[in-house]
Amino acid sequence: MSKPISVIVIGGSHAGLAISQKLLRQTSRAAITLINPSDEYYFNIAAPRFIVKPKSLPQSKYFYSIPEAFREYPAGAFAFVKGLVTKIDYSSKSVSVVFSVGSGPAIATSFVFDYLVIASGSTTPATLGQAGVRLPFKATAFEDTRQAIYQGQEMLKLAKRIVIGGAGPLGVELAGELAEAEGSKKITSENGTITPTAEKWLTLFGCLVWFFKGKDFLTYEAPKFLRGQMR
Ligand SMILES: Cc1cc2nc3c(=O)[nH]c(=O)nc-3n(C[C@H](O)[C@H](O)[C@H](O)COP(=O)(O)OP(=O)(O)OC[C@H]3O[C@@H](n4cnc5c(N)ncnc54)[C@H](O)[C@@H]3O)c2cc1C
Repeated sequence: MSKPISVIVIGGSHAGLAISQKLLRQTSRAAITLINPSDEYYFNIAAPRFIVKPKSLPQSKYFYSIPEAFREYPAGAFAFVKGLVTKIDYSSKSVSVVFSVGSGPAIATSFVFDYLVIASGSTTPATLGQAGVRLPFKATAFEDTRQAIYQGQEMLKLAKRIVIGGAGPLGVELAGELAEAEGSKKITSENGTITPTAEKWLTLFGCLVWFFKGKDFLTYEAPKFLRGQMR
């Protein structure tokens, strides 16, 4: 029997899970190693709803066990590694992986591959807690997504005024959820355009829709700006 083809998949979210499942169904020649910092898949698409309204969905509807989803496949065909890829070396066809982050020393190892799938997606400063309120619209590394969700929910609950920078699909959806939830005045802000329908509905639900340029948003002084517009 020929040696299995080793495929490493980085990232256990929509793309990484789908490609792993599809490869496993289509061929028995591949040995897949899926690497993700959490052993849970996070259904982030519903995040605007459950971050604003914690009781709207139980956690079992947006966290799913990754190993459980692959339990039908034998160990030789599929392996899950809970870790973070820190380096890809194309000359040796290997990836370096750490198994923990934080104060203790990170344990590291490497895995070789014939084929590599990079499905590590994208993260934002807000997701990583680098700017303003941390709202986990994407999974955070090493299991603190649940904690981040809880903190985000509590912050939004206590907030009296909320500025949303950006009115793309996520900004509008978040504003709609906030407007529908019980609470005081909510604001959505943006630096381009918003569809007339979205503006009409947000206004109807009590949101203040404010148009301004990116530079103004970055430099405004929050309390002054808010007081000025709320009068
Ligand atoms: C709030 C919200 C709502 C959305 N709603 C929709 C919608 O309704 N419809 C739609 O089509 N799209 C929607 N999107 C977009 C959709 O979520 C993304 O397109 C999708 O998440 C991309 O999936 P992905 O698997 O490529 O990457 P991601 O979901 O970003 O997942 C990347 C995975 O890789 C892991 N990872 C990252 N770095 C490493 C590393 N170094 N080593 C190992 N693992 C790593 C991460 O932990 C994560 O599990 C929405 C996005 C948001 C934020």
